[in-house]
Amino acid sequence: MRLSGIGVGRALATGPVRRMPDPLPEPPEGESPADKDAEIARTRSALQQVASELTDRGARAGGDAKDVLDAQALMAEDPTLVDDVIARINQGRTGQRAVHEAFFEFQVMLVGLGGYMAERATDLGDVAQRVIARLTGVPAPGVPESDTPFVLVARDLAPADTALLDLDKVLALITRDGGPTSHTAILARSRSIPAIVGVTEADSLRDGQVVVVDAGTGAIEVDPDESVVADTLRAIEERKAALNAPITAGALADGTKVQLLANIGGVKDVAKAVELGAEGVGLFRTEFLFLDSKSAPTVQQQKEQYISVLKAFPGKKVVVRALDAGADKPLAFLNDSEEENPALGLRGLRVLRVHEDILREQLTALAEADAATDADLWVMAPMVSEPEESEYFTALARELGIRIPGVMVEVPSAALLAPQILESADFVSIGTNDLTQYTMAADRLLGSVAAFQDPWHPAVLKLVAEVGAAGAAAGKSVGICGEAAADPGLAVVLVGLGAKSLSMTPAALADVRAELLTVTLEEAKTRAAAALGASSAAGARAAAAAATKVPASA
Ligand code: PEP
Ligand code: MG
Repeated sequence: MRLSGIGVGRALATGPVRRMPDPLPEPPEGESPADKDAEIARTRSALQQVASELTDRGARAGGDAKDVLDAQALMAEDPTLVDDVIARINQGRTGQRAVHEAFFEFQVMLVGLGGYMAERATDLGDVAQRVIARLTGVPAPGVPESDTPFVLVARDLAPADTALLDLDKVLALITRDGGPTSHTAILARSRSIPAIVGVTEADSLRDGQVVVVDAGTGAIEVDPDESVVADTLRAIEERKAALNAPITAGALADGTKVQLLANIGGVKDVAKAVELGAEGVGLFRTEFLFLDSKSAPTVQQQKEQYISVLKAFPGKKVVVRALDAGADKPLAFLNDSEEENPALGLRGLRVLRVHEDILREQLTALAEADAATDADLWVMAPMVSEPEESEYFTALARELGIRIPGVMVEVPSAALLAPQILESADFVSIGTNDLTQYTMAADRLLGSVAAFQDPWHPAVLKLVAEVGAAGAAAGKSVGICGEAAADPGLAVVLVGLGAKSLSMTPAALADVRAELLTVTLEEAKTRAAAALGASSAAGARAAAAAATKVPASA
C-alpha cells in the first residue's frame, strides 16, 4: 500500500510505526464547580503553569522552536481568552469545560481567517489540551516512549512535541493534518527530520507496521518488500556519506561552477551558513529583521544590521533584498491598507515605491554598509512585474551608491520579459516560491491547494528557461533563491535551464553539492529538456529521473 502527502525535506527513513495517542476527550457539559472563586484560581494557575512549561521547553529547544513555543505560551496567558474562560466559570462551567469552550471558539475564528492564521489554530488546540490535562490530573497527550527508533504518526504534532523530539528515536514524522507552513513542517525542516504532512489516510497506519518514508516525493510505502527496505537503508547510508563529504565549491562533474549560496534572515543565520560552506549569501530577507517593528527602522539601525552580516563574508557575494513587505510578510509601517487579495496587492517593490522615503533610506544604509566592509554587495528588488519597475529600482539604487542592482523574478510577466528587464538590471534572481504561486494561481499559504505549489511543474520550469536564456544572451547572472534550489534533483534541472547560482537554506547545501557533482552540464541540460516536455510536476520528476540514464552525448 502507498500513501502520500506533502514531503518536508528530502531525506528517506524506514522503521516501525508508533502512533501518538489521540486527543483528550471533551470535558463534559453540565458539571458545575462547588466554589467558583476556587475554580477560577485553580484554572488561572493551570494556565500560568502551562505558559511557563512552554517557555521552559522553548528555552531548552532554542532556535525557531523557541519563537514558536514563546508564541504558544502567550496564547495561554492571552487576556481576552483568560477573561472568556473566567466568564464561563462564573456562568457555572467547570474550569476544564470553560477552557475547552473558550479556546475552541477562538480556534474556529482562526480557521475562518484561513491561511497562516488557520494553521495557528492547531497550536491553540494544543495549549487547551495541556491546560485541560492539568486541570483533570491526566498526562497531556505526548510523544510515546520507546526504547527503539520509530516513525511517529499523529493527527498533528504540537510545536511543544516537535521541538523536543528525541532525534535518536524518531526516524520520521507522518501527520494527517497540517500544510506546508504548519509548525510541524517548519520545525521538522529546521531540525532536519524527514516528515510528510497532510497524509489524509494516516489514520489507517497501525502500531508496528513498517513504512518507508520518502520526504522528497511525499510517498509512504506501507509493509514494503525486504528488498525495498534494504535499498532504502543503503540510500540512507549514501546520503550520510554525502553529508559528511568535504566542503568544496559548488560544481558539476565536468567542473562547471555553480555558486552555492545561503538564504538568511539576519545575522543569527550567518554562522550556520559559513559552517556549512555557503559561498556567500544569495538572499538576505531584510524584512525578517523588522517583522515586529511598528515604525520604519532608521538608517543607522539598518546599517548596523547590514554591516554585521556583510562582515562575515569578506570578498564574497551577498545579495540583499529590499524589504519585501505584504501578503505572507506584512510590515506594520508599510502595509496599512486592507486588501482582499494581499498576494496580488500593494506588496514588494510596489509598496516601497509608494513609500519611497523608506526605500531610499534602506538603499542608503546598504550603500554605507557596503563602503564600511569588504563583501561584494548586490541589491535586488522583490515582486517586480515589469521592465519599467526594474528601470525605476536600478536607477534609484545606483543614484544612492549601490554598485550592483538587480531584481527578483517572481511573477510570470517578469520571467516572460526577462530580456527587457536585463537591459536595466545587472542580474536577476528567480524566487521560485512566488513564481510557482503566481504561475499556478495557488496561494502558497493554503494547505488545500498545496498540491499545485510544486516548482517541478513544467509551466514553472518553462518560465525559468526563459529567464535562463535571457541571462545567457545578455551575459548577466541568473540565480535561484526559492525553495526549489534546495531540492537536489530539481537543482540539477535548474542548472540545466541556465541558473548560475543556487541559494537555499544552509541545511540543504550538502545534499545539493553532492548531487551536482554527479552530472555534467550536458546531462543537466538533458534532464531539463526531459522535464520541460512533461505535462505535470510528477511527470517532470519522472522524466528527469529517466533522462539520467541517457548518455551525455545523446
Ligand atoms: C520566493 O518567492 O521564491 C522567494 C525567494 O522569496 P520569499 O520566499 O521570501 O517570498
Ligand atoms: Mg517571494
